[in-house]
Amino acid sequence: MFPFLDLAGINLRDEAALTEAFQRVLRSGWYVLGSELAAFETEYAAACGVRHAIGVGNGLDALTLILRGYRQLGRLTEGDEVILPDNSFVATALAVSEAGLTPVLVEPDADTFNINPTSVQAAISPRTRAIIAVHLYGRLADMQRLRVIADQHRLLLIEDAAQAHGAVDAQGVAAGALGDAAGFSFFPVKNLGALGDAGALTTNDEALAEQVRKLRNYGSSRKYVHELQGVNSRLDELQAAFLRVKLLRMAGDAQARRDLAERYLTGVSNPYLYLPQVPQVAGSHVWHQFVLRCEHREALQAHLEHSGVPSLIHYPIPIHRQAAYQEFAGQDLPISQRLASEVLSLPLYPGIADEWVEQTIKACNAFRP
Ligand SMILES: *Cc1c(COP(=O)(O)O)cnc(C)c1O
Repeated sequence: MFPFLDLAGINLRDEAALTEAFQRVLRSGWYVLGSELAAFETEYAAACGVRHAIGVGNGLDALTLILRGYRQLGRLTEGDEVILPDNSFVATALAVSEAGLTPVLVEPDADTFNINPTSVQAAISPRTRAIIAVHLYGRLADMQRLRVIADQHRLLLIEDAAQAHGAVDAQGVAAGALGDAAGFSFFPVKNLGALGDAGALTTNDEALAEQVRKLRNYGSSRKYVHELQGVNSRLDELQAAFLRVKLLRMAGDAQARRDLAERYLTGVSNPYLYLPQVPQVAGSHVWHQFVLRCEHREALQAHLEHSGVPSLIHYPIPIHRQAAYQEFAGQDLPISQRLASEVLSLPLYPGIADEWVEQTIKACNAFRP
C-alpha cells in the first residue's frame, strides 16, 4: 500500500533550506522568543492580511488563548456559551472547556460539512457569547451568514483555521482575517506543517493581541514581572525558522491540492459514492482532506485497502459521543452522527505519485457494496 500522506517527501523538497534554517538557529544560541519567531509572525500576518500573528505552542493553545484573551478583556466570562460544530476535531471543544466556557454543539450542513448557520441561529441563548467556525477539511465556512448572525446577537466570531491555511473568499480575504480572531495549527500533517508541534493565532484586534502575547509567556511582557496568570506556550525558534521556509510553498501547495481534488472529482464516478461539493470560489477550498461519503463506508474502506489504497476517517466519533463530553451524550445530532458513519478521506497531498491517484480513482470506481 502507498502512504496516505508522505510527510518526509513533502519536507525533503526543502531539505537544503530546512537544513540551513536549522544551522542558523543552532549557531545563534537563541532558541525561544527570538528573531526567527518575530520574522515568521510578520510574514504570516502578511500572508493572512492581518495586523497580528502570534506564534504559540500548538493549535489547541491558539484557540484557548484567544478565548482566555477575550476573558481578560471582559468580553467573555466563566460559563458563557460558545457555539461550535459537533463534527470538528475534538480540540475545538477542548479549547472552549479549557478556557472555562461552555461548548454548545450544533449540526453541520451535510453538503459542505461546515457548521450550519441556521443551526447556529437556533442554538443562541441569553448566555451565548461566541461562535467558532471551523473551516473543516480546508473549506471556508459560510462566514458571511455567520457574521450577520454574530453582529445581530453581539457575538464574537472566531475561526478555527487549523485546516485552512491559504484559503481565500470571493473578496480575496484569507482564512485568519475572516473573523475577530483565528487559531491555526502547524502540526506536521496540516497544509502548512512544522517539524513538530506549533500554532499561531491571527487578529486585527490590538487589545487581544496584547493580552495573548502576555498569556503565552507566563502572563509577562517584562522579565520577572507577571501581570496575568499565563501559560508557557511559545512557538520555538527552530519551528519558526522551518515554517518560514515552508510558508513560501503555501500558495503553490494549495493549488496542487486543488488540482488533485479536480482529478478525483472528474475521475471518480460511482453511484455508491457521494463526492464532496465544490465551492463556487475555487480558492475558498484548500483540500486539507478530500472527503467523500458512502452508506457502505466500512465495505468501501476494506475494498480500497484490498486494492492497495489507504484511506482514513475524519472523524469516526462526533464530539457529543466522546467519553470526554458525556454531558452531551443524550443530544440528538443526526446529521453529524450520519456523517461520522459515512465519511472517508482519500489520499491527497503535494507530490503524490500520478499512478497512486489513478490507482485510487480505479479502486473507487470498481467498488460495489
Ligand atoms: C489540528 C486541529 C486542531 C488542533 O491543533 P493542534 O496543533 O494539534 O493542537 C484544532 N482544530 C482543528 C480543526 C484541527 O484540525
